[in-house]
Amino acid sequence: MPDRPLTGSSHEPDVLVIGGGAAGLWCAYFLRLAGHTVTVLDRDAVGDPVACSYGNTGFVANGGVPLAGPAVLRHGMLSVLRPDDRLALPPTLDRRRLHWLWQLHRAGRPEQVQRSASLMAELKRRSLEILHELRVSDLPHPDFTAAGVVQAYKTAEAFARARQALPRAVAAGVRLRVLEPDELRALEPDTEFDIAGALYNEGGGFLRVPDFIVSLARTLTEMGVDLVENCTVDGFEVSGRAVVGLRTDRGEFRPREIVVAAGSWSDTLARQLDVDLELQPVKGYTITVRRPDNAPRGLVLLVEGTVAVRPFNDQLRYGGDMVLAGMDTSISRRRVARVLRTVHDHLPAMRSTETLQVWTGLRPCTPDSLPFIGRAPAYDNLIVAAGHGHNGMGLTPVGGQLIAQLIGGSPPSMDLAPFRLDRYTAPPSWLRPRPAKPRPAQPVGGPR
Ligand SMILES: Cc1cc2nc3c(=O)[nH]c(=O)nc-3n(C[C@H](O)[C@H](O)[C@H](O)COP(=O)(O)OP(=O)(O)OC[C@H]3O[C@@H](n4cnc5c(N)ncnc54)[C@H](O)[C@@H]3O)c2cc1C
Repeated sequence: MPDRPLTGSSHEPDVLVIGGGAAGLWCAYFLRLAGHTVTVLDRDAVGDPVACSYGNTGFVANGGVPLAGPAVLRHGMLSVLRPDDRLALPPTLDRRRLHWLWQLHRAGRPEQVQRSASLMAELKRRSLEILHELRVSDLPHPDFTAAGVVQAYKTAEAFARARQALPRAVAAGVRLRVLEPDELRALEPDTEFDIAGALYNEGGGFLRVPDFIVSLARTLTEMGVDLVENCTVDGFEVSGRAVVGLRTDRGEFRPREIVVAAGSWSDTLARQLDVDLELQPVKGYTITVRRPDNAPRGLVLLVEGTVAVRPFNDQLRYGGDMVLAGMDTSISRRRVARVLRTVHDHLPAMRSTETLQVWTGLRPCTPDSLPFIGRAPAYDNLIVAAGHGHNGMGLTPVGGQLIAQLIGGSPPSMDLAPFRLDRYTAPPSWLRPRPAKPRPAQPVGGPR
């Protein structure tokens, strides 16, 4: 959408949302439905490759596995010795990252993993409902495909573990079952699998991104949301407990409420207001190729390698890999090769003739894999909708709904305590990140 002069109303909306990725757009959608005037600001154009919502695999299913687990830290740290591992935690002296790792370790306690998994499942169940409703309503959303998802296991041990955990997932409402080999053949007749077994998640679906994001943004402008692209927020004005203004490279804004939904950049923005978010970017890759004839027809998760294979029309996208190394989006050929090798190990006969795109994105990750959905305790009008991690496409629809309920003052349809910004316990003092340097309150329109 081309830049255009900003109107007076976009400068003083009821709600200003920072970030035009999935999180920001879903907030805007539900806020506008509730009757608020809404402005969304994004540093880039909606659908720009920098946003994590641009190039992901778009998998949305009920159920969810948190990043943290009893052995995740040890596993990640050993990646120094196994550079091809799916999870890489390179050594660091960065205190914020060390602090986050400490919280990741705590979030790996079995009771917390279980709690996160069931909350994620509930959030995703509600998001799927929203996506299904949109599909049958008048809104143009052809980019959501509701079909089951095959979870493929390479080794007998991993498959046995998955089977063992199956009753618990089913009890939590996940529509998961064992897929017998002949059922897999009927479902995926073109594709040869070299695996020990598979489960089938009947409640799965996927979004085609970035098309879905772009069409959601178009719908928002039709609904009357002011979408201001190529506009970077670079300062705030504070008065007491209120953030009264925002400074951007395209002018000043004075909204009643502010929602920070800037993905992996939310932490840097919030710190300008002395709000600390336990958030780290976790880099992932997608590789989009021309779809070969023997590609799967539906979405397949290669569980041990944590790679998703997603077909759409004449394209096939592989997505995965997790590297915790700050805001680095460079492409490592070795890690691309790891993703391709994982695909080849599971689907040995499949070959594509053409690579269309290699992309990296930064997942905005919290240690317990639950998003931040809540008010910043020090302010009356600052809200955060960030930290949707590796499940953002599945968590942001309901996240936006909850944010609209919070701002509208109606009782939220879910308890928001698990998503509070200040839910993490204090770390040992030697690990605490140095406090942000006190910043003089910047008047709106002040020096850049
Ligand atoms: C390889 C990979 C595969 C994935 N696969 C899936 C999947 O299959 N299913 C799933 O559910 N999730 C998946 N995800 C996760 C999902 O992509 C993210 O959780 C989601 O996109 C996060 O959305 P967001 O809106 O919070 O952040 P983003 O999409 O990154 O949006 C943040 C926006 O804020 C803007 N911004 C930042 N700073 C400023 C500023 N100062 N002023 C103005 N604007 C600003 C940015 O320009 C950006 O547009 C995957 C991620 C990766 C990397």
